[in-house]
Amino acid sequence: MGEAERGESAPRARISFWCSNGHETQPSFAHDAQLPDIWDCPRCGFPAGQDKDSPPDPPRTEPYKTHLAYVRERRSDEDGEAILAEALAKLRGEI
Ligand SMILES: [Zn+2]
Repeated sequence: MGEAERGESAPRARISFWCSNGHETQPSFAHDAQLPDIWDCPRCGFPAGQDKDSPPDPPRTEPYKTHLAYVRERRSDEDGEAILAEALAKLRGEI
């Protein structure tokens, strides 16, 4: 049973994709279609993958300032680098 019915409609498969926010989306594909590795989450726009436990990383949109703050926090051997970066930022009028 069911076999005959299935033959009447175009065979399609629903594939689940998960984004890093835990959203699940289930686009359907024709059986002979090539499945994409990445599917854009329709809810948040993040890339979604077929592996629920390790979804693709969200796109990096960190501004330059965040990086500078990170460098400042480390206060290690790279102090000199941070001071240089700060000086450069001042020159550019960013601070
Ligand atoms: Zn999402």
